[in-house]
Amino acid sequence: MKIVTYADTRTTLEARRGVRRAFVAAFRSGAVTGFLLAANGLLVLYIAINLFKVYCGDDWEGLLEAITGSMLRFMHLSGPKDIAELFFLCYFLSLMANIVVMFDFDKTIIDCDSDNWVIDDLGGTQLFDELLKTMPWNSAMDTIMREFHSQGRTVEEITESLKRAPLPINVISAIKSAYALGCELRIVSDANRFFIETILKDHELINYFSEINTNPSYVDEEGRLRIFPYHDFNSSTHGCSLCPPNMCKSAIIKRIQATTLAGGKKRLIYLGDGKGDYCPSLKLNEEDFVMPRKNYPLWDLIVDNPQALRAEIHEWSNAEELERVLLQLISESVDRTNEDQLKSADCKFHTLQLSSHEALPKALPVPN
Ligand SMILES: [Mg+2]
Ligand SMILES: [Zn+2]
Repeated sequence: MKIVTYADTRTTLEARRGVRRAFVAAFRSGAVTGFLLAANGLLVLYIAINLFKVYCGDDWEGLLEAITGSMLRFMHLSGPKDIAELFFLCYFLSLMANIVVMFDFDKTIIDCDSDNWVIDDLGGTQLFDELLKTMPWNSAMDTIMREFHSQGRTVEEITESLKRAPLPINVISAIKSAYALGCELRIVSDANRFFIETILKDHELINYFSEINTNPSYVDEEGRLRIFPYHDFNSSTHGCSLCPPNMCKSAIIKRIQATTLAGGKKRLIYLGDGKGDYCPSLKLNEEDFVMPRKNYPLWDLIVDNPQALRAEIHEWSNAEELERVLLQLISESVDRTNEDQLKSADCKFHTLQLSSHEALPKALPVPN
């Protein structure tokens, strides 16, 4: 402050002797105060590092996160203003990539069952019900596609039908927001690849997902859509009594858990509605979240015995709620990740909060 006052006074005195002299004085003093400002910044950073080191010891990762947390708290109050703050914001976003969001597809991403949607649309409902009396769902799907083909119904008709399937705008924004926040998005669905990809491509959402786990399908050389089981139950059983013979989603979840956990700590958020989503929900860990659609089979199974799950349960009823709950959980998850990392660094600065957000909807009560 003193230096700035001196500089201003000197510039004023020089101004009496000419504009050129005043400009030179102002330019030089500006450079000096600029250097002083930078030096002050470095001094504060040096003190902060030494202060945090008292608490964090030689844990440099914890140290960096502690300083980052403080910066974020400051930015939350004032908003990022310069490159350094932007750097910390980028670091914050990199922390968010620790979340994997697993989506079921039917009645979760789209607001209908894609198989039933196409069959009803192409007038095959009665025949499909007959087929289900003698074969599993997945085999019935392949068979009815053969029937459609023999009736002269084309893949283009199926594609057009799929494009009309309802996909709520809030689900689209939820997917885009979760992706923008650094989450990895994957699909685990008992529909089939052709249906899912057709719908996601139509809504320009396909590139937001890193993986689609579903029943394989393709259009053969005759133009018939073939649909196969994810798990070939004709050669062996997957051994899970909770799930349909063609797919146990738990096997997929376990693989994802193994690969993601190996690459650093990851938290899973699982969204689903159906009976087939119960088995993978049981495999989620304490730090994970499950989002069952309220009053649908997954939710019914969970509320029957919530203690069976380790993951925290957060219900949703419609696309608006899906978006709100998912984004709040992501925010909550980042907070917890930071707290966990600070704890693991044995750091005492537990009170750092990255953001103030609305309280999460209450988790399902667990009866005693
Ligand atoms: Mg579903
Ligand atoms: Zn299973």
